Amino acid sequence: MRYQELSHWLSTVDETLIPRPALPGDTDADVVVVGAGYTGLWTAYYLARADPTLRIVVLEAEIAGYGASGRNGGWCSALFPTALPALARRHGPASALAMQRAMHDTVAEVGRVVAAEGIDCDWRHGGTVLLARTDVQLGRAQAAVAEAREHGLDPDDLVLLDAAGAAARCAAEGVRGGTYTPHCAAVHPAKLVRGLARAVCRLGVRLHERSPVTAIRPGAVLTPHGTVRAEVVVRATEAYTPALPGHRRTVAPVYSLMVVTAPLPGRTWERIGLAGRETFSDYRHLIVYGQRTADGRLAFGGRGAPYHFGSRVSPGYDREPRVFAALRRTLGELFPVLGPDVPVEHAWGGPLGVARDWSASVGLDRPTGLAWAGGYVGDGVGTSNLAGRTLADLVRGVVSELTALPWVGHRSPRWEPEPLRWLAINAGLRVMSSADEVERRTGRPARRATALSPLLGH
Ligand SMILES: Cc1cc2nc3c(=O)[nH]c(=O)nc-3n(C[C@H](O)[C@H](O)[C@H](O)COP(=O)(O)OP(=O)(O)OC[C@H]3O[C@@H](n4cnc5c(N)ncnc54)[C@H](O)[C@@H]3O)c2cc1C
Repeated sequence: MRYQELSHWLSTVDETLIPRPALPGDTDADVVVVGAGYTGLWTAYYLARADPTLRIVVLEAEIAGYGASGRNGGWCSALFPTALPALARRHGPASALAMQRAMHDTVAEVGRVVAAEGIDCDWRHGGTVLLARTDVQLGRAQAAVAEAREHGLDPDDLVLLDAAGAAARCAAEGVRGGTYTPHCAAVHPAKLVRGLARAVCRLGVRLHERSPVTAIRPGAVLTPHGTVRAEVVVRATEAYTPALPGHRRTVAPVYSLMVVTAPLPGRTWERIGLAGRETFSDYRHLIVYGQRTADGRLAFGGRGAPYHFGSRVSPGYDREPRVFAALRRTLGELFPVLGPDVPVEHAWGGPLGVARDWSASVGLDRPTGLAWAGGYVGDGVGTSNLAGRTLADLVRGVVSELTALPWVGHRSPRWEPEPLRWLAINAGLRVMSSADEVERRTGRPARRATALSPLLGH
């Protein structure tokens, strides 16, 4: 497989992506981690830092960063898949606020490790600007700020912008206002995950690539190359989880797709802005996200690709010409300065993991030694770091502020069997896709989408 072709990001790392040696045969460890995306690698990183005597093995089916971690939008944000009001309803206001504050700290923590380990990943802590381009979107921006205050966030955590303030950050067409939060960094996602893999290996962790795990059991994982026995087994397989025996309905893989332009000339950037490399999006229903890359491109992504029957994940699903065309069109609408033929150089996609109740979770079942983290939907770049630190505490039996957070030990219900799952997820995705069109036509909030919002992670 040519791993470079999986994303613009993997094609622009400064290394050859030759797989590390596979598991050579049966072995013993203290902790074995399945999956070398951010979740698996952060877990190994913090465990190895906290206790250098631990024998840690990481097994990866392909190469580190093969999954969403090597393909995403590069928002290292403080977004958590369950919105603050829903967290407050479920766990109480104090726990919800603690969770959000932990996410804020997480952005700074990733920045700290990136600097400490010399991971050159185009890190820029420039915040996020969310644009409002219609009255309805402006209403949503105002509601978001009011909600943040009501739940105890500081005024600086989410600031309401007027038209001039929003355009000063990102001069998209027809901007009426928006919001700004400082809690996000733009990052080259593949450089981050590959740099993290190198950091973990430097700490003495044994990382075996091209070593697919075929079954996870208490005390052992099985691969075609041999068995790893360990007291603790960490499942860090996110959207690929349904392929593991016993996990078909644990998370649903939903695809997100991206395009990237050629480097844009300075005069184009003078018109667009994003001078602080703020990540950007707007208050539409169907999620879109963008960043100005360190080498002056626009990287832009969104949902809209279908869910595939039986929670199947396949390289063929990474490319959906209809969605790529829609992303290109949306970029052109946002930034007419790009011209009628937005110059796209690369288009790709990947699967992210969605739990039935849209709740990310992390945990360790002490009696079996089985640990897990995931269900981040589109917010795993930051959240996986918090997961890794939390798992390191749980595995070592340390009681901390992190292990008291409300997502720890949460068990999401399983997804419905097929064909119900396929029907429900695709119906939800279609409602969200059409909601923006309804709002554009009527100038009023789309009722069905508003009703479905909590279910779809807004
Ligand atoms: C296009 C796209 C854009 C996104 N944009 C953003 C964004 O801007 N910000 C954000 O926060 N999040 C974003 N996300 C989500 C984010 O990328 C993920 O939540 C995050 O990368 C998940 O990390 P992970 O390590 O849990 O999973 P992954 O990175 O998917 O890693 C799982 C790893 O496990 C391996 N694996 C699976 N099964 C096995 C097995 N049986 N044996 C061995 N290895 C196995 C896989 O090969 C893979 O390498 C985006 C996702 C996509 C697809």
